[in-house]
Amino acid sequence: MIYLKLSHYLKGILRHDPRHKRVVFFSGLLFGLILASISVFISASWVVNEFQAPPLKTITDRRPLTDSNSAALKKEGELLKLENFVRRGDTIITALARAGINYEPAYKLFQAVKPIYDLKKISAGKKYTLFLSSSGKEIEKFKYELDVNRYVEVSRDERNNLYSGKIVTIPFDVKKEFIKGEITYSLFESIMKCGEKPELADLLASLYEYDVDFNRDIQVGDSFAVIVEKKYLHGQFSSYGNVLASEFVNRGKTIRLLRYTDPESFSAYYHPDGRSVRKMFLRCPLPFMHVTSRYGNRRHPILGFSAGHHGVDFGAPSGTIIRASAAGVIQAIGNDSTRGKYISIRHPNFYTSHYYHLSGVAKDIKTGLKVDQGQLIGYVGSTGLSTGPHLHYGMEKSGRYFNPLQLESPAKEPVKQQYFVDFKHYADRYFLVLSGSKLVNIPPAVQDALLSPVAFGDQKPF
Ligand SMILES: [Zn+2]
Repeated sequence: MIYLKLSHYLKGILRHDPRHKRVVFFSGLLFGLILASISVFISASWVVNEFQAPPLKTITDRRPLTDSNSAALKKEGELLKLENFVRRGDTIITALARAGINYEPAYKLFQAVKPIYDLKKISAGKKYTLFLSSSGKEIEKFKYELDVNRYVEVSRDERNNLYSGKIVTIPFDVKKEFIKGEITYSLFESIMKCGEKPELADLLASLYEYDVDFNRDIQVGDSFAVIVEKKYLHGQFSSYGNVLASEFVNRGKTIRLLRYTDPESFSAYYHPDGRSVRKMFLRCPLPFMHVTSRYGNRRHPILGFSAGHHGVDFGAPSGTIIRASAAGVIQAIGNDSTRGKYISIRHPNFYTSHYYHLSGVAKDIKTGLKVDQGQLIGYVGSTGLSTGPHLHYGMEKSGRYFNPLQLESPAKEPVKQQYFVDFKHYADRYFLVLSGSKLVNIPPAVQDALLSPVAFGDQKPF
């Protein structure tokens, strides 16, 4: 639409006197700029999606919104069955009206199910199923899909003509599976070669983010092995559950980690010696790391003279998400000609982290707010004294700036001492399976116990 209008406008200009060349030139420039910004926006949003994609949940929701014409009534026993998808702008009343249901029975159904689920919350793209009486006017049963394995079901009681609803959950079939591969180009590509989904690469990258920089450190010949829960529904893969144990060999160095749930039901990831995988600070507040200017003395790109650079610059497309590198309290949010839009966070042990040149601050982020490690706080931009989109990330301890890339971040809580024997027992068996070459030496019964289907959760195999 906009494009049509614009080309119409440009043609109009071209038809005029050639002396209007300047107008044509500037219109062309404007048009070019619009195209360029659209392509930058598209590529930027691609990069953001690529790296921040939440590993689970989204796969099944990418269903086309079908036209109501394609939803035909089917006979099912005495009843008529109709399957359809909620459209943009639909309410439960309008969705049902398209199926020929009058306001009154539709409203009755809506009211009856309200204590269990508010059908005001229906969203576009979700599936619903109607079972109608043979006349096609009475709703006998209604199903609305909540998730891939959960739906709201409303049925009519013939005796009193009243509707009642419930939420039905279909349990997943969870299997532990062993996946092993070698890096030939990237983790993503190797995971795909194993026949797995990109979500598994995201899961592994986020588990290893404290130890490995997947953009910089990874090299051909690195390898990984992982035992992961895979959730199936009606025999079809649905999503990944937890990574239970994994081994990553990076430049000859083996990094193992294990998910352990202690007898108090506290779950976390640990190294084989019981140290927590999580550290107090993330290596980088962005979903990926690309250093464009290091800490220390440098020639300032705008001011021209040498000045101490109290931070590290990470190049990233405008709009890339910025995460709090550690838990803390938002100390300051501001905007000035040097820092641009900025956020500072106060952390325990007299640490403060700074994030400059943002394009925006995330919704609900305010001074005084407590934030978790990894929480979204803002977006990369180029505000203030900046030559292009990047994040300036600075760190202070007791009022003194230091290089955040050289921070030896203290680990979070290790396994509790009283559970260490239990942990060790659990870890040893998993890592025996993981170090693939030894797999043949493990009695088949033990292998079965490790990789056999389990109910969802953290049951110990022994
Ligand atoms: Zn900087």
